[in-house]
Amino acid sequence: MEMKRILSGIKPTGAPHLGNYFGMMRPCIALQEQGEAFYFIADYHALTTVRDAADLRAHTRGVALDFLACGLDPARAVLFRQSDVPEHTELAWILSCVTPMPMLENCHAYKDHVAKDRTPNHGLFAYPVLMAADILLYDSNVVPVGRDQKQHVEVTRDLASLMNRLYAKSAPIFTVPEASILPNVATVIGLDGQKMSKSYNNTIPLFEDEKPLRKKIMGIVTDSTPVESPKDPAGSTIVALYRLFASDAEVAKLEEDFRAGGTGYGDFKKRLFDALWEFFRPMREKRAALAADPGHVEKVLHDGAQRARAVAVRTMERVRAAVGLR
Ligand code: AMP
Repeated sequence: MEMKRILSGIKPTGAPHLGNYFGMMRPCIALQEQGEAFYFIADYHALTTVRDAADLRAHTRGVALDFLACGLDPARAVLFRQSDVPEHTELAWILSCVTPMPMLENCHAYKDHVAKDRTPNHGLFAYPVLMAADILLYDSNVVPVGRDQKQHVEVTRDLASLMNRLYAKSAPIFTVPEASILPNVATVIGLDGQKMSKSYNNTIPLFEDEKPLRKKIMGIVTDSTPVESPKDPAGSTIVALYRLFASDAEVAKLEEDFRAGGTGYGDFKKRLFDALWEFFRPMREKRAALAADPGHVEKVLHDGAQRARAVAVRTMERVRAAVGLR
């Protein structure tokens, strides 16, 4: 059977958080065993919002460190920085030239922006096209994404089919990918009960220092039920987050203690903090070891870029020939 190509990306717009870990990093790490995986740090995408060069560099390094600490094996998966492979932007332009405007006007990230009366920049509007280029450059078969990205993978599929219809002579130019919406990956909620997202300022970063992390957990929004009263575990942010780290039996015990009354939210938050802190302990130790060797991350990204570029350049030769650029 042919080896599957798996591709996914993460934006270096801040420290990776629990939503990124459970929604993307952990499933990607599991998938590295099952095919040829390409995982990239989407710094071109981050440019739609990040305006500080030093921040972008620091976040890019941070994402790489976090991913490696969590178990990404660079000997198996190719980890690279998107901008080290400029073919991403070249292909995005070529795809742009066949992309109908209404296809992008229908995309929810853009529509959300407009609904909030914000003026989107062209990069944000066109970002599904760059994402299509990211995927198609590597002839990816499988694109593991959270539910929030399903629509963008549909755009990729449409653009791949359109390009094949317009330009393919004997063999198709692009592989039409599958969006694999990951089973068992629910949207992780943030400190305020909304979806955890860097843009909502409600995230729990994976590797924050103990004190600020504890403070964040203690700041989880709850109702004002008094200590002695029974509390409803359904809809509780504390319970939802605890479920990410605890066994079924531990969750059942927490829910029972909620219903029994006599324990305040502060104590439940401490329990959550302890579970989270223990869960990431081995990864935190690994991260510290990796960070102590400053050249390591750069070397991984450099090697990754070379491996990624070798594939991307070949795809672009095919695309350039098909559209008449040489
Ligand atoms: P981003 O930071 O937008 O590049 O997101 C990287 C990946 O993390 C994407 O595949 C998202 O689907 C996933 N992700 C981000 N936030 C969450 C969340 N709150 N719950 C689950 N997955 C998420």
